[in-house]
Amino acid sequence: MRDSFGRTINYLRLSITDRCNLRCSYCMPAEGVPLKTCADILRYEDFLRIVGVAADLGIRKVRITGGEPLVRKGVLGFLQQVAATPGIEELALTTNGLLLAETARDLKEAGVQRLNVSLDSLRPDSFASITRGGSLATVLKGLEAAEAAGLQIKLNMVVMRGVNDQEILPFAALSLEKPWSVRFIEFMPTLQEDGWQRKVVSGAEILAQLNQQYSLREIPRGHSCGPARQYRIAGAPGSVGIITAISDHFCGSCNRIRVTATGLAKSCLFNDEVLDLKPFLQGDKSELAKGLQQVIGQKPARHQLDSEKQKPAGFSMASIGG
Ligand code: SAM
Repeated sequence: MRDSFGRTINYLRLSITDRCNLRCSYCMPAEGVPLKTCADILRYEDFLRIVGVAADLGIRKVRITGGEPLVRKGVLGFLQQVAATPGIEELALTTNGLLLAETARDLKEAGVQRLNVSLDSLRPDSFASITRGGSLATVLKGLEAAEAAGLQIKLNMVVMRGVNDQEILPFAALSLEKPWSVRFIEFMPTLQEDGWQRKVVSGAEILAQLNQQYSLREIPRGHSCGPARQYRIAGAPGSVGIITAISDHFCGSCNRIRVTATGLAKSCLFNDEVLDLKPFLQGDKSELAKGLQQVIGQKPARHQLDSEKQKPAGFSMASIGG
């Protein structure tokens, strides 16, 4: 399936809940986000219908996200069904890791191949402060369990100036110990916040820090790199990656569409245009296919977030899925 700029769209991200068991300060306000009612949230069977039709249109990879996807009841059975959908070759999940210790093995058995675990600090106090109360020890136990279960692990660290930018090197050092892909993500303005540009540590700065300490070799882009530029520290089993959504956007190779927990399809994280898929879910599958094709047809060439004048988007990543 190609969009109007010739990009192949083969990746679908589904946010299955707007609930989260953390309150990360860069993702949502302290009081959380106004939650949708259960009636607004799509049922698993609705998501499965979307996955089936999307797979017929050429989607090959599905990522389940949230909110925190592991807090939704019945998620394991749902994942099993997504993995079993004809045409779906890859199933990945994005999680904060709090519930991983008890679910990692079942996730693997359900057919999840990869996990992206969001982790923004390796210091217990700083982790608790960024997440407004989260326990680092619990996430680290979850990572151990995920490793033991044989899941491929990517760690996502959102780098924020004055918050955790002094931890870039300790995070990179994890790739020397573990076969993980440690990815540094430029902070993106989502909440209404003036002066957000000050918080962004650019990919170039991150790379300069890494280069000062380590000898890095760039890894040719494979299909599992996603938008990250990937490097390996000499002798490391893992890799480090940099995701420069702001300073050097990668829209030209964007291959994804998103569906929120309430069924809004979005072709770009930073574009307000959405299509409500709910009315398409009752009818014929061909109607839903047309809806998804319409969304793909509207995918813009690129986002405009690197503009100095750009206002923050004014949404919580938790309501869209990051
Ligand atoms: N609860 C899951 C988790 O923590 O990974 C999935 C949802 S979370 C919204 C998905 C991703 O969005 C996380 O990796 C998080 O770090 C990222 N994210 C949220 N707000 C962000 C921001 N302002 N800039 C960059 N990434 C952000």
